[in-house]
Parts: sequence; structure tokens; C-alpha cells
Amino acid sequence: MGAAENFQAIRASLDEKIILVAVTKNHGVEEIRSAIDAGATDIGENRVQEAAQKFQTLDRQVTRHLIGHLQTNKAKAAVSLFDVIHSLDSVHLAQALDKAAKNFGKVQDVLIQVNVAREPQKSGVLEEDFDALINFVDEAKNLRLRGLMTIAPNFSDVENCRPLFKKMRSLFDALKTSRKNFDLLSMGMTHDYKIAVAEGATVVRIGTAIFGERLYT
Ligand SMILES: *Cc1c(COP(=O)(O)O)cnc(C)c1O
Repeated sequence: MGAAENFQAIRASLDEKIILVAVTKNHGVEEIRSAIDAGATDIGENRVQEAAQKFQTLDRQVTRHLIGHLQTNKAKAAVSLFDVIHSLDSVHLAQALDKAAKNFGKVQDVLIQVNVAREPQKSGVLEEDFDALINFVDEAKNLRLRGLMTIAPNFSDVENCRPLFKKMRSLFDALKTSRKNFDLLSMGMTHDYKIAVAEGATVVRIGTAIFGERLYT
């Protein structure tokens, strides 16, 4: 099956309220177009530079998500390229994004990335730094906090993701009670999205199951 059929099969398996982000990193503009023409409304890229290049020739209407780690010095470019940034994980980055959004004349939708498994090599805010970041983002005039994101560890037994996704959902629900426009819980990739959905994800990010294995050269 090609990307179009894969996309449609996954889309049909999900509740219509769930946002399916087709992760297009390492895939060319032709493949992205074919997914969009098959019905993809949301695409995800993990690198600003790669996205900037591809978006130049991507002549399609689609919601653009930045799902990869973002360096402060690329905040300006990210704000100009993306509708939703999933990888906000420090006050320092929030300051840079707020400023960039102000200069660009937009309110930037952001998700806070949580390192819920406390993996040392992963980005994402740790629990002890979470409140300070939330407080900053709540006050930032040019940022709109839309929800939370996490990347689960690559467990050999995918069931090990479940308690982490549960924890994310309770964090999300607690914050949601006092917030408007707080509706995006981004968790679940090819190997674990079914568990993420069962535990309350509202956004899944799927690359391999749509486009096949990525070839890195
Ligand atoms: C690459 C990537 C995905 C998609 O992963 P697949 O396993 O190919 O579905 C999802 N989220 C993030 C943050 C990624 O970098």
C-alpha cells in the first residue's frame, strides 16, 4: 500500500475527533502532497531547516506542526513556519517564542513537551520545572497554550507506555479545568499510538505506518 491508502486506513480506524498528524520528516514534497490529497489535514516535521525548504514548494493548505526539539536561535523561523509547536520545554525557549511571535504579529499555539519518563537524553520539561514553565506561558501575551506533548520511551514491550500515557492524561485533565483552548494532548507514534489513544490522546503523530521506514542517508 502507498502513503495515501495507509493514511486513509489509519484515519478510518480513529475517532473523527482525534487529530492525525502525518509525520513527513525525511520524506519529499511529492509524498507529502499525496498524503494531503488523500485527506491529511495536519503534517509534522521535526527540523526547522528541512521544513523551511520543503514548505517553499508545498502548494497545499495544511496545518503545520513542529514536533522536534527547537533551539532558541531558530524560534523566529519556527514561528514563521508552524501553526503549532509541540516542543516547548523551557522558560528560555518560551521567552524567545513569545518575542518572535510578537514581532511576527501572531499568537503562537504551543504545547509543553513533558519528559514524563525522565529520560536523560530526551528533551521535555521535568515535573519539578513544570509549574514555572506553565506560569510563564500563561502570562505570555503572544503564546497560546493548547496542551501537552510527550514522546514515550522506545520500550520493547509497548505496554510499558501505558502508565506514562495515563499520567500525561491526568496532568492534562488537571490543567484543562482552568483553561480555555486547552484541547491538545499529543502522544502516540507508530508503535504506541493505539495505547495512547486508549489512554486519552487527542493528537497522534504517525510517520512510519503511513510513509514506510525512513531512509537516512
Ligand atoms: C518521527 C517522529 C514521530 C513519528 O514516528 P513514527 O514512529 O515514524 O510514527 C512522532 N513524533 C516525533 C516527535 C517524531 O520525531
